[in-house]
Amino acid sequence: MKLILLGAPGAGKGTVAKMLTAIDGSVQISTGDILRGAVQAGTDLGKEAQGYMDRGDLVPDSLIMGIMEKRLQEPDCANGFLLDGFPRTIPQAEELKGLMAKLGIKLDMVVAIDVPRDVIFDRLCTRRTCENPKCQAIYNIKSMPSKKEGICDKCGSPIVQRADETEVAIGHRLDTYNEKTAPLAGFYEKEGMLRTITGTSSDVVVNAIKKELGL
Ligand code: AMP
Repeated sequence: MKLILLGAPGAGKGTVAKMLTAIDGSVQISTGDILRGAVQAGTDLGKEAQGYMDRGDLVPDSLIMGIMEKRLQEPDCANGFLLDGFPRTIPQAEELKGLMAKLGIKLDMVVAIDVPRDVIFDRLCTRRTCENPKCQAIYNIKSMPSKKEGICDKCGSPIVQRADETEVAIGHRLDTYNEKTAPLAGFYEKEGMLRTITGTSSDVVVNAIKKELGL
């Protein structure tokens, strides 16, 4: 399947993407994960992106498009992909449209996951992430703690609170989302690609997507 997952930070895009990869081997492409990996590895991209990310600002479109143009041409994308956290601005969506046309890729649909802001705020404040850039497993101290406190079940690395998941940064990320990313729903509605799914349970969202795709 070839999908874009839209939704505020904390709406469950990453969890839903991981569940969908298990269905047909499509790959999850999270620009946030790619950027965090680059920051930890200390690459030029990471150095350029870090300040924006720590403040909860968006990284410039040109950096993101450079990453995605390469990523979408990697062989594992041939089976399908789930775009998680990209596009995030109208210019990114417009450039992606041109890139897809150039690469001969046709999207199945764009799914907007709609979750109330108070649920999202609470989820992000209690979210913890494995600091190993190759793992980045997600936990939640309330609803999905690791078996051993502070240690990742999957790889044994420390689990940390992301720098952009303090209350101030989260508030700013949600405002940025409303201003820059929420308008993408209108963009894809006009393209006839948008399906909005309201639900706080990832199982409900995944089942709705499977139904839309006839799986
Ligand atoms: P995420 O894990 O998707 O919430 O992304 C974490 C941070 O990475 C965001 O707050 C942005 O600073 C940056 N980021 C991720 N994806 C994008 C994107 N498509 N455009 C601009 N910045 C992005």
